[in-house]
Amino acid sequence: MPRPTENQQTDVTSVARTVRRAVADGLIGEGRPVAGFVDVRGVRSSVAALREAFARTPDVLHTFAAKACPLVPVLRLLADAGMGCEVASPGELRLALDAGFAPARIVLDSPAKTRGEIREALSLGVALNADNLDELDRIDALRPADCPSVLGLRVNPQVGGGSIGAMSTATATSKFGVALRDPGARARVVEAFARRPWLTRLHAHVGSQGCPLPLIAEGLAATHRLAEDIADRVGRSQVTSVDLGGGLPVNFADDTVTPTYADYVAALTAAEPALLDGRYQVVTEFGRSLIAKNGFTAALVEYVKDAGGRRVALTHAGGQVATRTVLMPDAWPLRISAFGPDGLPKRTPLVRQDVAGPLCFAGDVVAHDRPLPALAEGDVVVLHDTGGYYFSAHWAYNSLPRPAVYGALLDEGGVAFAVIRPAQSVREISAESGLAQADALLTGFDAPFRH
Ligand SMILES: *Cc1c(COP(=O)(O)O)cnc(C)c1O
Repeated sequence: MPRPTENQQTDVTSVARTVRRAVADGLIGEGRPVAGFVDVRGVRSSVAALREAFARTPDVLHTFAAKACPLVPVLRLLADAGMGCEVASPGELRLALDAGFAPARIVLDSPAKTRGEIREALSLGVALNADNLDELDRIDALRPADCPSVLGLRVNPQVGGGSIGAMSTATATSKFGVALRDPGARARVVEAFARRPWLTRLHAHVGSQGCPLPLIAEGLAATHRLAEDIADRVGRSQVTSVDLGGGLPVNFADDTVTPTYADYVAALTAAEPALLDGRYQVVTEFGRSLIAKNGFTAALVEYVKDAGGRRVALTHAGGQVATRTVLMPDAWPLRISAFGPDGLPKRTPLVRQDVAGPLCFAGDVVAHDRPLPALAEGDVVVLHDTGGYYFSAHWAYNSLPRPAVYGALLDEGGVAFAVIRPAQSVREISAESGLAQADALLTGFDAPFRH
């Protein structure tokens, strides 16, 4: 196991090497002002760390939460590394199938599944976690006799929230799962299982970024107790798998991976030793912790100005690629590094400055009053740890194009790139903005829809 300091060294170097090569190859520069990069070996080693941490649990299905990086080549890389896939919409399900995940290794979790979505998942053999008891009634009606899907129920152990309200899924009033501590709810869940021998999985996702490990562990221990209660009630081990969700927080402050998957397993084992001992099959659904630190965003500095005594760098990385950071800057701070037009790290003295994006929206600032080497036109800024939920979850504000995303393969010989997703063109933006219906409001009210 490398020490954190060694990790840090490697990671800083790999980003710098990737930027240098990307600038030399013209992947960042005039006409290509912003791009995302995914470290392919980094992704594989994160998957390896996850598997290693759970090595003592006999039967584990690790799935990747597709929403953290819904890009087909990335999903295929993860499938190749042995992962399954957690999806929460028809679009994510399509991506997972196109990436090559076997249906039995896909888990569908969305809170508002339509009858059509449930029917499709059940016919494919995709595992499904119902969000609520009404959804179980729908499954009763739609489930074919020989249904191949593993079926579960999501519960909310209501253990409380973490430091980011919007990421806390186990508060008393969370919209997710059956609220287990509400009056009568636990008994209703136990009865729902007793009436449905095919219901064999319990699912909880206690929270994401900002939720401390002990809180996650407490919620999952409560879920485990419920599985045992169900077994007591029905007189057999009806629940055969526990889906632990994801939510391992990511350290955005420096390159150290903390907490680690090993820390997670230790916290769970401390809270409930029987949870991972093999009595239940275990499913995990990690997203951010597998991908965030294996990606970064690079963007050109277009102008630098002074305003009210503040230095402001106007760059091409703003809310379109760092939506959470610009809308909730205190909850989602990002590290930023500065590189020169040659792609080498800038060594100029530190100056406090804002790093702003290209959107016509005053909040479009990815770093406020941050000490950085004095930026200048043509420099490149790097937004670290943005491999999850950032460049892959584009915000179409100002009709800015989705940036290109490249896979980077680093070895002793150098850095090689593969296109994961080409940059969107302005033609494509127009096409998805109704170009084919351009006359709709002038002549489109004619037949056939006229009443
Ligand atoms: C978002 C989500 C995940 C992944 O969360 P991370 O914080 O990215 O690990 C897992 N399961 C469910 C149900 C989710 O909604």
